[in-house]
Parts: sequence; C-alpha cells; structure tokens
Amino acid sequence: MARGERFGTFGWSESTDAFSFRTTVRRTATGIVIDGVKAPVSGAVFSDVFVVYARDAANDDVIAVLVERGDPGVEIVEMEPLGLRALGQGELRMTGVELAAERILVASDALSHAQVFLSSRRIAIPCFVLGRLEAFFEASARDLSSRMRYGLPASEMQAVQAALGRMWAQVETCRALVEQMLRRLGDRDERSAADRAWDPAVAATKYAVLEQARAFLYDAQNILGGRWYYTKWPFGRWMRDLMGMIPAAGTQAILEVDIGMLASSEVARRGRTRHRGQGDRP
Ligand SMILES: Cc1cc2nc3c(=O)[nH]c(=O)nc-3n(C[C@H](O)[C@H](O)[C@H](O)COP(=O)(O)OP(=O)(O)OC[C@H]3O[C@@H](n4cnc5c(N)ncnc54)[C@H](O)[C@@H]3O)c2cc1C
Repeated sequence: MARGERFGTFGWSESTDAFSFRTTVRRTATGIVIDGVKAPVSGAVFSDVFVVYARDAANDDVIAVLVERGDPGVEIVEMEPLGLRALGQGELRMTGVELAAERILVASDALSHAQVFLSSRRIAIPCFVLGRLEAFFEASARDLSSRMRYGLPASEMQAVQAALGRMWAQVETCRALVEQMLRRLGDRDERSAADRAWDPAVAATKYAVLEQARAFLYDAQNILGGRWYYTKWPFGRWMRDLMGMIPAAGTQAILEVDIGMLASSEVARRGRTRHRGQGDRP
C-alpha cells in the first residue's frame, strides 16, 4: 500500500450504531470468522483491502480486522449514489469469511481507531468542497452573463447580483475556514497538542464549510433558472456531489451535538479556572 500498488478503504457504516453492529467476529481454534455487511463503503469497487470494524462475539468490544477482496466469502456489490460516482461506492458483504488471527488490526477499542480515520477524512472534505464551490461560482457567473434577458445579461439583474454576492461571500468564508484549519494542522506544536481522534477545530470546519455550501446551493438553484435540472449542464451533478459530503464522516447533526458538548464543558472549565484564580487573590 505504501508503494501505491494496493488500495485500502474503511468499512464502518452498516445502518446501525457502533454498539449494535451486526458484523461480528467469532474466534475459532484456527483463527477468526467474520460475517456481516458494510455499506456504503467509498472505494469498495476498486479496493484490495478493507479495514472492517466489527463486534467481537467474545466480549462485545469493537475490533478492526483486515479483509481482502479475494478472501473466500467476500463479495463487493456496486452501489448507485446520486453523485460522487468516481468514489466507487459499494457494499462489502462477508459470509463466513475465515481468516488467520493475524488479520486482527486493532484487538480492542477500535472505536478510537475509527475516530482517528474520521477526523482525517474531516480534513479532506472541506478542501474538496471549497474547490468545487469556487468552480461552481465561476461557471454560474459566466453562464448568467451570457444569458440576455430584457436587453441585459442576466448577471446584471440586481437580484442575481445579490445572490452572486452571497455565493462569493460563502466561497470566501470557506476559504478562510479551510486556510485556518490547514495552518493550524501545519503548526507542529498545535498538531502535537491536538486530539487525533476528535479535533473540535477540524470538526467545526467540516460543519461550517458544509453549512456554507448548503446556503450556496440554495442561491444557485434560484439564479440558474431551470438550467441546473438537466444533465446538459454540470450544475445539477455538482449539487449532488456537494450534497453527498453533508452526511460523510459524521452527519451535521452529530457534529453539532459533539461540538456543543465540548464547547459547553470548555466554558465550564474556564469558569472554574477563573473562579479559582479570583479566590487566590489577596
Ligand atoms: C458520500 C459518502 C461517503 C461515505 N463513505 C463511507 C465509507 O467510506 N465508509 C463507511 O463506513 N461509511 C461511509 N459513509 C456512510 C456515512 O458515514 C453515514 O451515512 C453517516 O455516518 C450517517 O449514518 P446513517 O446513514 O446510518 O444515518 P443514521 O445514523 O441512521 O442517522 C439518521 C439521523 O439520526 C441522527 N443521529 C444518529 N445518531 C445520532 C446521535 N448520536 N446524536 C444525534 N443525532 C444522531 C443523524 O444525524 C441523522 O439525522 C459514506 C456516506 C456518504 C454519503
């Protein structure tokens, strides 16, 4: 994999929460047996190896196992997402897959292992969204300035200009958020102080960039007229691609809950520190 000759991906989701995973690993005299279905798995269609998170039947802990495409009992079924077709999404079906015990990658508390992966995916998503929004903005502005309505290019209608103004402000807000996140991650001291499994600044960036994208798409739908609805133009496809990023690596609703919990406990911690500090004064 390090040489780029084999591709690996992440099998977590299965339409349940981690504490109710139906994918299980049973220990046998010679190794382990894994059964279950993971979907959607990005990259399933072209992956050689999968990190699969499953419930250990012996103690109900979540563990991680390496499953290879060619292992007997493994089947990959292509899925048909509305957008992001190049992601190669699929279902990973495992039926009585017998493996050597060495295939266990994380023998206990693989929940924390998965969180490290999800945190790094939350770094990539805002970068993709920023690039796509910028291209979307430019294509919209060009398209509207080439449409004549009542003797004027549509881009000169004030309502269209106002929407383009909001869309550009949304792109610039995303850029500021992404640059700040990348600068923070590029700073060695900040990076080593950050929690690799749950970095609230990374989670807040993914959350805020996707909320900007939602507002951007609302304006784009209004000003593009009917053109975004047809495959002749790329707008509808770009909208579907962007919408696909909303639930990926933690839904917006889950991020809100987690960020809210963390932020309020941080405020309480600061309050206690201040209180102690005041009490210490002569
Ligand atoms: C483009 C794309 C790529 C993906 N790639 C992968 C991949 O490579 N590997 C992989 O394993 N999965 C992948 N997924 C799956 C993705 O991680 C899940 O769709 C996502 O985590 C939501 O899970 P769910 O669909 O089961 O929704 P559910 O968990 O059923 O959520 C339904 C609703 O309940 C809310 N909810 C659920 N739990 C809580 C909670 N604890 N607190 C508050 N609200 C809650 C949710 O916010 C949502 O509103 C991908 C999804 C997409 C769209």
